[in-house]
Amino acid sequence: MKHSDTDVIIAGGGLAGATLALALARVAPALKVTVAETFPLSADALPESYQPSYDARSTALAWGSRLIFEELGLWSRLSEHATPIRQIHVSDRGHFGATRLNAKEYEQQALGYVVDNRWMGLCLMRELLETDTRWRAPAEVIDMKSSEQGVSVTLKSGDEISNTTAQCLIVADGGRSGLREKLGFQPSHHNYEQNALIANVSTSESHQFTAFERFTEAGPMAMLPHGSPSHAGHQSALVWTLSDEELEAVLAMPDSDKCQRLQERFGWRLGRFTRIGQCNHYPLTLTTVDEPVRPGVALVGNAAHALHPVAGQGFNLALRGLMTLVEQFRLATEQGRSPGDFQILRRYHELHRPDWQQTVKFSDSLIRIFGQSPAPVAAARDAGLVGLDLLPGAKRLFARNAMGTGGRRAVIKKPGFNEQPSHHQRETSEHE
Ligand SMILES: Cc1cc2nc3c(=O)[nH]c(=O)nc-3n(C[C@H](O)[C@H](O)[C@H](O)COP(=O)(O)OP(=O)(O)OC[C@H]3O[C@@H](n4cnc5c(N)ncnc54)[C@H](O)[C@@H]3O)c2cc1C
Repeated sequence: MKHSDTDVIIAGGGLAGATLALALARVAPALKVTVAETFPLSADALPESYQPSYDARSTALAWGSRLIFEELGLWSRLSEHATPIRQIHVSDRGHFGATRLNAKEYEQQALGYVVDNRWMGLCLMRELLETDTRWRAPAEVIDMKSSEQGVSVTLKSGDEISNTTAQCLIVADGGRSGLREKLGFQPSHHNYEQNALIANVSTSESHQFTAFERFTEAGPMAMLPHGSPSHAGHQSALVWTLSDEELEAVLAMPDSDKCQRLQERFGWRLGRFTRIGQCNHYPLTLTTVDEPVRPGVALVGNAAHALHPVAGQGFNLALRGLMTLVEQFRLATEQGRSPGDFQILRRYHELHRPDWQQTVKFSDSLIRIFGQSPAPVAAARDAGLVGLDLLPGAKRLFARNAMGTGGRRAVIKKPGFNEQPSHHQRETSEHE
């Protein structure tokens, strides 16, 4: 390996970039890692105690992602504010098909967990600050050129421009900064012509740790149990797909009318909607890059693939990819090779690609089949759900996707990284 300022530079310290940095610190500690992040890191971003907020954005972590976070020694901390999903109920408004998945059928404590993004960010930062990971923040990666050492990366911090050399640049910028395109990667986009409205809601009935995926003529919606790891409360995290016009109309409504509209769309499985919190919204596209690796560069997370959020797959898929990348980096260091070696990066992509393609297909076909209403499609919708319930093989496949256990599992375990179950986990398992 040639000398460079750092071995791996990660552009973006969001969920994907921060998780990658932590995984590298755990699994390939010989590598020098620098994270460049546009936003500053401030001390108050790491408060002593965390109070979940009603308006926080959250992510559904699949069971398989919990196993990865366990391997990274992060789960005991994360689980303090992770609401388990013990059942998933999939239904189709106006059609008779419905299917249910239950964690017990798959001999697991949960099918997945709902965790506030802010809590995940805090847990990652606290762990990362105890590692040798270097931070450049605020600093935006604005360009990269191949160099003798591997890559020369240009950083912008305020008015200051600087260059740093690395063996490999990992682009984890969420795909929105234009860096991916600037480096010549060509993403393909499919616009669903829908938006996701995200909010936390209160209901008169308890969620009983059930996640609902509901398909309606106007688009799919998800309602995820939220609020407490142990108490089956009355709060759920909503992902509601709406057309541009409907989104505009819903945003203009008073909260009581929003709850009413939601009630009409979702039905009464959670009783009455009594409150809706702050609403955020996102345009929905499927973005993927066919070849996310080049000599010295790889795209990860949303920079590589951004999926429709209703199936809750985006970050879970990203996490499995990150572990495969880390596994390949560990092998590279053991063999004295550079992490930017194209063979290493290509191998990572070959290993991750089947999971990637399968997950994109799964979440995209859910939207295409269930998000439309013409008669033949509607018949397929009924048949789909009824079939899922009647055919154990089909249901198991659906469950494996939902639980994030269908894809390849990277071999990253190293002695000393398996954590002991936390106090909370022991308590939870004792109740199960
Ligand atoms: C509404 C919604 C709901 C979702 N729900 C789920 C779910 O339930 N389950 C699931 O698995 N996934 C879900 N996802 C997907 C998940 O949120 C994404 O996969 C995940 O946030 C991607 O993280 P990322 O780090 O790749 O990108 P981001 O979170 O966008 O982070 C990118 C980071 O890079 C920084 N940055 C940007 N440009 C630069 C630059 N040039 N230089 C340096 N830093 C830069 C940014 O400041 C940011 O911190 C959802 C997505 C949406 C939109």
